[in-house]
Amino acid sequence: MKPWQFETTVTDVRTDARGTWVALESTLFYAEGGGQPPDVGTLDGQPVLDVQRVEEVVWHLVEPGLERGTFVTGIVDEAIRHDHSIQHTAQHVLTALLEDEYGIQTLSFGIGQEESSLEIETETLDWTQIESLERDVQRIIFENRPVSTYELASAEVEVDRLRKPTDRTGMIRIVDIEGLDYNACGGTHVETTGQLGIVHVTSMKKVRGNVRLTYVAGHRALSAIHSSRTALRTIHQTLSTTNETVAARVLEERNLRLERDKEVKALEARVAKAKVAAFLQEDNYVITHIGKTEAETLTTTIVERIAATGRIAVGANHTGQKLWLMHDGTHDIAIGKFLKRTLDDLGIGRGGGSHKQAQARFESVIELERATAEIVKRLQEGMVSC
Ligand SMILES: [Zn+2]
Repeated sequence: MKPWQFETTVTDVRTDARGTWVALESTLFYAEGGGQPPDVGTLDGQPVLDVQRVEEVVWHLVEPGLERGTFVTGIVDEAIRHDHSIQHTAQHVLTALLEDEYGIQTLSFGIGQEESSLEIETETLDWTQIESLERDVQRIIFENRPVSTYELASAEVEVDRLRKPTDRTGMIRIVDIEGLDYNACGGTHVETTGQLGIVHVTSMKKVRGNVRLTYVAGHRALSAIHSSRTALRTIHQTLSTTNETVAARVLEERNLRLERDKEVKALEARVAKAKVAAFLQEDNYVITHIGKTEAETLTTTIVERIAATGRIAVGANHTGQKLWLMHDGTHDIAIGKFLKRTLDDLGIGRGGGSHKQAQARFESVIELERATAEIVKRLQEGMVSC
């Protein structure tokens, strides 16, 4: 039998809104707790969807079918358990170093699907400090310190050494990282700090007056480094940069882009003015502008300018498959409702808006053209009752 496989008997079955939960005579499944997610795996080949502890009983959420007294084989997913143990032990090391070297307390902790997070009691922390923290963690990893877990009767616990006081009584599970941490903890851990591989902080954010760090350890850290490198390589290839020049180059590109945007906007305003001037030669109550290849921003500028002259403006943009409707507020047409009703009648597009302006998006240019034609027809024929 593999170390993560076990045989046992179902001792109890309960159902609630989430499904069927079974209790077992003995289990290797870790129940969610202390920021660590539950183990995953199978019971008699069926997936175990959740594991929760209620008053010392571990309940496994499974597909219905298992009855009390059934003999079952359980298998815990070893890779996921090992990963959780790595992320969790990394938290012990981070928390211990933050407190001992930086005087910062850990407030909460959680292992997520991708990253784990740590809320720490400080108003500020900068990336230089984080790099220094990561170097401290790496030193502990290279020293390959033993991580021992054992149970002690509460009277034997060295209370003064505990990182956090515990109000538990009876047998207490202690996690002891040599020379670093002495903690009451029911989670799962690796055997030595070397098994953490690398601990890599991925983000830092201020929350509720504290700082929230996210981090990855072990294989997750390797994957994070791989994905950063892939992203960076794409940037380097596109902009012909290196790690040393990329930051300056990206800033330069952004400034250039802002300049271009300004120029484009000015040009669009000129084009819009010319187009609108041509439209105004027509003495129509409804003016339709169709932009087949232009940018959406140009279509909306033209629509706004037409509307400002007191007409009802209809603008279609083929590139974005979008439609805009607008007037200056002097017309007695609730344009959003009108648009929504027309689309409902046609059974195409999604859209709506306010009294003066509305917009819609379509699945295809053909749908956009159909809707535009119908809207213009209804507006011209006065088929609007709002
Ligand atoms: Zn722990």
